[in-house]
Amino acid sequence: MSVVLTNSVKYLRGVGPNRAAALEERGIATVGDLLGYLPFRYEDRIRFTPIAEIVPGQVCTILGEVGAGGGNIVRFRGGRGPVFHVTVRDKSGSVHARFFHGAYLEGRLKEGQRLVLHGKAEADPYRPARIEMVNPQIELVGGDQAPADSTEVGRIVPIYEAIGGISSRMLRRIIYNVLLSFDGSVADALPDEIRERYRFPTRREALLYAHFPPKNESLELLNSFRSPAQLRLIFEEFFYYQLALALRRQTDHRERGIAMRVREEKIREAIKRILPFKPTAAQKRVLAEIAADLERPYPMHRLLEGDVGSGKTIVAFEAATIVIENGYQVALMAPTEILAAQHFLSARRIFAPAGYGVDLIVSGRKHAERERAIERVASGETKFVVGTHALIENPVMFQKLGLAIVDEQHRFGVLQRKRLIEKGASPHVLVMTATPIPRTLALTLYGDLDLSVIDELPPGRTPIETRWTPETQLPGVWEFLRREIASGRQAYVVYPVIEESKQELKAATAEYERLAKSVFPKMRVGLLHGRLKNEEKDAVMEKFRHGELDILVATTVIEVGVDVPNATVMVIEHAERFGLAQLHQLRGRIGRGKEKSHCILVAPKSITGDAKDRIETMVATTNGFEVAERDLKQRGPGEFFGTRQHGDAAFSFAQPLRDHEILELARREAFALAENPARANEVVARLESLSPVWQKRYQLASVG
Ligand code: ADP
Ligand code: MG
Repeated sequence: MSVVLTNSVKYLRGVGPNRAAALEERGIATVGDLLGYLPFRYEDRIRFTPIAEIVPGQVCTILGEVGAGGGNIVRFRGGRGPVFHVTVRDKSGSVHARFFHGAYLEGRLKEGQRLVLHGKAEADPYRPARIEMVNPQIELVGGDQAPADSTEVGRIVPIYEAIGGISSRMLRRIIYNVLLSFDGSVADALPDEIRERYRFPTRREALLYAHFPPKNESLELLNSFRSPAQLRLIFEEFFYYQLALALRRQTDHRERGIAMRVREEKIREAIKRILPFKPTAAQKRVLAEIAADLERPYPMHRLLEGDVGSGKTIVAFEAATIVIENGYQVALMAPTEILAAQHFLSARRIFAPAGYGVDLIVSGRKHAERERAIERVASGETKFVVGTHALIENPVMFQKLGLAIVDEQHRFGVLQRKRLIEKGASPHVLVMTATPIPRTLALTLYGDLDLSVIDELPPGRTPIETRWTPETQLPGVWEFLRREIASGRQAYVVYPVIEESKQELKAATAEYERLAKSVFPKMRVGLLHGRLKNEEKDAVMEKFRHGELDILVATTVIEVGVDVPNATVMVIEHAERFGLAQLHQLRGRIGRGKEKSHCILVAPKSITGDAKDRIETMVATTNGFEVAERDLKQRGPGEFFGTRQHGDAAFSFAQPLRDHEILELARREAFALAENPARANEVVARLESLSPVWQKRYQLASVG
C-alpha cells in the first residue's frame, strides 16, 4: 500500500498507539510531518575504522561484536552510578568501552552481538597502551540483514534525536519504511524559478536525500548541514516565514500613514540647530534611512540598533525634529523612570532653543503635575513627551501623534508597543535597542521591522579596560577608586540586591553605609536603587550628573541608558551573579567620555561553567555584537530576550545563527515574490495544502 504525506503516522509500520502519541506530542501527526523530522547527524557506516587503526583523541565509528562474557556492570558505594564495561572486537583487534550510568545495558549484550560504536577514543589513563571509548553512542545491529537495504550499516546512516521512547534506530526504520512505500508525490510549494536559480533538488528528492543520503555524498557537507538537500530544506523554512512577513508588510503599507516633508531647508536648519556635535557617519546614514521612511505615505516600522553609547538618542531627536516641524507630536517611551527623566532633561535642553514644548509623564510624580502634562499633550502644546509605561496606562490623548519612539524596546512587550502606537492614527514607529542582536536574528525575530544599525561609536572614546578581581583584592580596588576620584572622575559601585537577605549577597544599602563611613569617609557617596521615591531618585541622579557625588552605589536600576560621561570607573560586586547581556549593559554606563574607563568585575577566581565564561567574555571583548553572539550560544534566543518569541517556534530544522546566509537569501527571494501578489498567493495556497504544521508556522509569522 502506498503512503501519502497526509496519512496519519498512526497507521505506519512500526508505530503503535504509544509511539503515535509520543510523535504527536512532538508535533508530528502526519507522514509529511515525520519526513520533516530530519537527522541531526550522519555517520559513515560504509567505511568503519578497523579497531587496530583507532587513533586516540579522534572520533571514530567501529563495527564489531561483543567480546567474551557480554560485558559487566560495576557498582560503587556512594553517590556514583554504576558503570558498564564491555570489550568489543573485530578482525583487527579489540577495544574497551565504558558507559557511565550504564545499568540499562546490563544483560542486553550477548557475546557475538553485532554493534556499532561512535565516539572519541582515548588512551586509558591507567593503562596507556589500552585504548578505550567512554560513553560512545551505541547501536546494536542485526546480523541477518542484507546489506543492500540495511538501515544500519553499509551506508551513510542518519542519526535522529530520540522522541520519547522512540530511539534513533527505531525512527530510522520507521522513516525508511515510509520512504520505501511512498507513492512519490510530494507537493512542492517552492516556485520553480527559485528552485532552478539555486539548483535546489525537488522537495521529494530533498527529503529522500536528507534522510538517506547517497553513498557518495560528502559526510562533511552533511554534518555541517550544507548538502544540497539540506540547503533546500533550510531555505524553504526561512522562505515561507519571510513570505508571511513580506505579505503582512504589504498590508501594513496599504495602511495610510503621514507623509512628512523632510527636504525643506527650514527642516535641515532645525536639525542642525539641535545638534550639539558632528554626527558620526553611521548616525548620518541611519538618519537618512529614517527620513526616507518618514517621507513615505505609510507608517515607518523601524528598529534602530546600536551598541551601548553609540548615540541613538540624538538620532531619535533628529527624527523628532522632522516630525515636529511638520506639525505633529512625538512620544518617547523608556523602560525606567531614571532613563525617562534623563531623556526628558536632554530633550528639554536640546529642544528649548527651537521653542518646542517638552513634558514628562511617569507614574510616581505629583498628581496635579501629571494632570497638567496630560492636558498639554492633549491640547497639542506639548510637542515632545517622554514617559515610562505611564504613557500608555494613563488616559493620555494626543492631539496629533506623528511618531512613537520606544527606547530599549526589548524591555517592552509587543502589546505595550502596540498600545503606544494606538495613541495616534497610524503614526510612524521607531524602536531602539542596545541589545545588539545579530542582524540575522533581528531579521527573524523582528522581521516585520526594517533594520538600521549604528555600527560605530562616536569619536574620541578610549576602550574600556575590564578586569576580573577576587574579593580579597578589594582594598586595592578602593585605592584605585580614590586615585581616579582625586583626578576628577566619578565611579559606580554596583550590587546585585538592595537589602541583605539569606542569600548572603552584599547588598547596596548596607555596603553604601559601610563605604561612605569607613572606606571613603572623605568622598561624597550616593545611593540609588529601585525602592527610592522618584524625587529621591531624581535628586541623586541629578547630583551625580552634576559632579556633586563622587561615587554612586547602585543596583541594576542604572543598567539602561544612564549617560554620565565623567563616570569612568565601574565596580560590579558578585559579578558572577549577573547575566552577560546585563553585565554588558552595566558596563555601557562608562567609557562615554574622553578619559580612559575601567570596569572591575569582582568575583571569586574559583567560579566555573557559564559564570566563568561570562566573566571571561567580558574581559575579552567590549564589542556588544560579540557579547550577544556568545550569550546567544549560551542561552538560546528565547532566554536571551527574556521571553520566547515567534522566531523560535518557526523553524524545526533551520537555525538563524548557523544559517544566516541562507536566511538573507530566502528573505530577499520572499520579498521579491511578494511584489507579485497573485504569484505569492498561489504559493501560500499551495503551502496551506501541505500540512497543518506549515500552516501554523505560516500563521505565526503573519500575525506578528
Ligand atoms: P545610546 O546609543 O546608548 O543610547 P546615547 O545616545 O546615550 O547612547 O549617547 C551616548 C553618548 O554619546 C552621549 O553622551 C551623547 O551625547 C554622545 N554622542 C552621541 N553622538 C555623538 C557624536 N556624534 N559625537 C560625540 N558624542 C556623541
Ligand atoms: Mg540609550
